Amino acid sequence: MSAITQLKDIVENEAEARATGAEHSTGAEQSTSAEQRPATRRTAMEVLPKKPSTKGTAELFTGDVWFDVVAAGEEPSRIRVNVVRFAPCARTAWHCHAAGQTLHVTEGVGLVQSKGGEVIVMRPGDTVHTPPGEWHWHGAAPDHFMTHLALWEGPGPDGGPESQWGEHVTDEEYNARQRHRRAGQ
Ligand code: MN
Repeated sequence: MSAITQLKDIVENEAEARATGAEHSTGAEQSTSAEQRPATRRTAMEVLPKKPSTKGTAELFTGDVWFDVVAAGEEPSRIRVNVVRFAPCARTAWHCHAAGQTLHVTEGVGLVQSKGGEVIVMRPGDTVHTPPGEWHWHGAAPDHFMTHLALWEGPGPDGGPESQWGEHVTDEEYNARQRHRRAGQ
Protein backbone atom coordinates (compact mmCIF):
# COMPACT_ATOMS: atom_id res chain seq x y z
CA MET A 1 0.00 0.00 0.00
CA SER A 2 1.48 3.34 -1.00
CA ALA A 3 1.81 6.10 1.54
CA ILE A 4 -0.83 8.19 -0.21
CA THR A 5 -3.29 5.30 -0.42
CA GLN A 6 -2.65 4.56 3.24
CA LEU A 7 -3.24 8.20 4.18
CA LYS A 8 -6.48 8.24 2.17
CA ASP A 9 -7.57 5.11 3.98
CA ILE A 10 -6.82 6.76 7.32
CA VAL A 11 -8.78 9.91 6.46
CA GLU A 12 -11.79 7.92 5.21
CA ASN A 13 -11.69 5.73 8.27
CA GLU A 14 -11.65 8.77 10.55
CA ALA A 15 -14.54 10.39 8.67
CA GLU A 16 -16.58 7.21 8.85
CA ALA A 17 -15.93 6.82 12.55
CA ARG A 18 -16.98 10.41 13.15
CA ALA A 19 -20.13 10.04 11.06
CA THR A 20 -21.26 6.95 12.89
CA GLY A 21 -20.09 8.13 16.29
CA ALA A 22 -18.16 4.90 16.55
CA GLU A 23 -16.30 4.31 19.77
CA HIS A 24 -12.64 3.52 19.79
CA SER A 25 -12.19 -0.11 18.89
CA THR A 26 -10.66 -2.51 21.35
CA GLY A 27 -8.60 -3.81 18.47
CA ALA A 28 -9.73 -7.40 18.85
CA GLU A 29 -12.21 -7.22 16.01
CA GLN A 30 -10.11 -5.08 13.70
CA SER A 31 -9.51 -6.67 10.34
CA THR A 32 -6.11 -5.02 9.90
CA SER A 33 -3.27 -4.97 12.35
CA ALA A 34 -2.15 -1.94 14.31
CA GLU A 35 1.11 -2.09 12.43
CA GLN A 36 -0.69 -1.61 9.12
CA ARG A 37 -2.83 1.26 10.37
CA PRO A 38 -0.81 2.95 13.10
CA ALA A 39 -2.65 6.29 12.91
CA THR A 40 -6.23 5.06 12.81
CA ARG A 41 -6.66 4.19 16.46
CA ARG A 42 -9.25 6.47 17.96
CA THR A 43 -8.65 7.62 21.50
CA ALA A 44 -10.43 9.85 24.01
CA MET A 45 -7.54 12.33 24.02
CA GLU A 46 -8.58 15.84 23.05
CA VAL A 47 -7.10 19.28 22.60
CA LEU A 48 -9.26 21.40 24.85
CA PRO A 49 -10.71 24.69 23.60
CA LYS A 50 -8.93 27.77 24.84
CA LYS A 51 -10.86 29.73 27.43
CA PRO A 52 -10.47 33.48 27.96
CA SER A 53 -8.02 34.66 30.61
CA THR A 54 -9.71 35.71 33.85
CA LYS A 55 -8.84 38.80 35.88
CA GLY A 56 -8.26 38.12 39.56
CA THR A 57 -10.86 39.86 41.69
CA ALA A 58 -10.01 42.80 43.96
CA GLU A 59 -11.34 40.80 46.92
CA LEU A 60 -8.62 38.20 46.58
CA PHE A 61 -5.77 40.08 44.89
CA THR A 62 -3.91 43.38 45.01
CA GLY A 63 -2.95 44.81 41.62
CA ASP A 64 -3.33 43.21 38.21
CA VAL A 65 -3.44 39.44 38.28
CA TRP A 66 -4.67 37.28 35.42
CA PHE A 67 -5.05 33.55 35.34
CA ASP A 68 -5.67 30.82 32.82
CA VAL A 69 -7.15 27.52 33.91
CA VAL A 70 -4.99 24.66 32.63
CA ALA A 71 -6.71 21.83 34.47
CA ALA A 72 -9.79 21.62 36.67
CA GLY A 73 -10.32 17.91 37.11
CA GLU A 74 -13.68 16.30 37.52
CA GLU A 75 -14.17 13.51 40.06
CA PRO A 76 -12.39 11.33 40.76
CA SER A 77 -9.65 13.78 39.73
CA ARG A 78 -9.18 16.76 42.05
CA ILE A 79 -6.37 18.34 40.07
CA ARG A 80 -6.23 22.11 39.78
CA VAL A 81 -3.61 23.87 37.65
CA ASN A 82 -3.60 27.55 36.75
CA VAL A 83 -1.10 29.75 34.96
CA VAL A 84 -1.10 32.99 36.95
CA ARG A 85 0.42 36.24 35.71
CA PHE A 86 1.17 39.05 38.16
CA ALA A 87 2.06 42.65 37.23
CA PRO A 88 4.83 44.28 39.32
CA CYS A 89 3.68 44.67 42.97
CA ALA A 90 0.60 42.52 42.36
CA ARG A 91 -0.01 39.71 44.86
CA THR A 92 -2.62 37.44 46.33
CA ALA A 93 -4.31 38.14 49.64
CA TRP A 94 -3.36 35.92 52.56
CA HIS A 95 -4.82 32.47 51.99
CA CYS A 96 -4.29 28.75 52.50
CA HIS A 97 -5.15 25.57 50.63
CA ALA A 98 -6.79 22.53 52.22
CA ALA A 99 -4.46 20.09 50.46
CA GLY A 100 -1.46 22.42 50.10
CA GLN A 101 -0.14 24.03 46.94
CA THR A 102 2.87 23.89 44.65
CA LEU A 103 4.03 26.98 42.78
CA HIS A 104 6.43 26.75 39.85
CA VAL A 105 7.79 30.02 38.48
CA THR A 106 8.12 30.19 34.71
CA GLU A 107 8.93 33.86 34.16
CA GLY A 108 10.03 37.01 35.95
CA VAL A 109 10.74 37.51 39.64
CA GLY A 110 8.26 36.63 42.37
CA LEU A 111 7.85 36.78 46.12
CA VAL A 112 6.24 34.28 48.46
CA GLN A 113 5.80 34.27 52.22
CA SER A 114 4.23 31.99 54.76
CA LYS A 115 2.70 33.56 57.87
CA GLY A 116 5.51 34.30 60.31
CA GLY A 117 8.25 33.43 57.81
CA GLU A 118 10.52 35.55 55.69
CA VAL A 119 9.68 36.83 52.22
CA ILE A 120 11.34 34.51 49.72
CA VAL A 121 12.37 35.54 46.22
CA MET A 122 11.30 33.13 43.47
CA ARG A 123 12.83 32.95 40.02
CA PRO A 124 12.10 30.93 36.87
CA GLY A 125 12.58 27.24 37.56
CA ASP A 126 11.98 27.59 41.29
CA THR A 127 9.32 25.36 42.84
CA VAL A 128 7.78 26.25 46.18
CA HIS A 129 5.43 24.05 48.19
CA THR A 130 3.10 25.27 50.93
CA PRO A 131 1.67 22.51 53.13
CA PRO A 132 -2.05 22.02 53.83
CA GLY A 133 -3.57 24.82 55.85
CA GLU A 134 -0.45 27.05 55.94
CA TRP A 135 -1.39 30.69 55.39
CA HIS A 136 0.71 32.44 52.75
CA TRP A 137 0.72 34.89 49.85
CA HIS A 138 2.51 35.02 46.51
CA GLY A 139 3.03 37.67 43.88
CA ALA A 140 5.42 39.59 41.67
CA ALA A 141 8.46 41.55 42.83
CA PRO A 142 8.04 45.35 42.90
CA ASP A 143 9.82 45.89 39.59
CA HIS A 144 9.15 42.68 37.68
CA PHE A 145 6.29 40.75 36.21
CA MET A 146 6.01 37.17 37.41
CA THR A 147 4.29 34.11 35.99
CA HIS A 148 3.87 30.88 37.89
CA LEU A 149 2.01 27.64 37.59
CA ALA A 150 -0.17 27.00 40.64
CA LEU A 151 -1.02 23.37 41.40
CA TRP A 152 -3.45 22.41 44.11
CA GLU A 153 -6.42 20.14 44.70
CA GLY A 154 -10.17 20.58 44.72
CA PRO A 155 -12.43 19.72 47.64
CA GLY A 156 -12.17 16.24 49.05
CA PRO A 157 -14.98 13.84 49.96
CA ASP A 158 -15.78 15.92 53.05
CA GLY A 159 -16.70 18.82 50.78
CA GLY A 160 -14.64 21.43 52.62
CA PRO A 161 -13.38 24.51 50.76
CA GLU A 162 -10.22 23.97 48.67
CA SER A 163 -8.87 27.38 49.74
CA GLN A 164 -9.57 29.91 52.49
CA TRP A 165 -8.97 33.62 51.96
CA GLY A 166 -8.17 36.35 54.48
CA GLU A 167 -6.84 39.89 54.62
CA HIS A 168 -5.01 41.64 51.82
CA VAL A 169 -1.22 41.78 52.07
CA THR A 170 -0.40 45.30 53.22
CA ASP A 171 2.33 47.37 51.59
CA GLU A 172 4.25 47.04 54.85
CA GLU A 173 4.07 43.26 54.72
CA TYR A 174 4.89 43.26 51.01
CA ASN A 175 7.90 45.51 51.53
CA ALA A 176 9.29 43.57 54.50
CA ARG A 177 13.08 43.68 54.47
CA GLN A 178 14.10 40.05 54.70
CA ARG A 179 13.73 38.91 51.14
CA HIS A 180 17.23 37.84 50.27
CA ARG A 181 16.87 34.13 50.45
CA ARG A 182 16.25 32.44 47.12
CA ALA A 183 13.73 29.62 46.95
CA GLY A 184 15.56 26.32 47.09
CA GLN A 185 18.63 27.76 48.79
MN1 MN B 1 -1.48 29.92 47.33
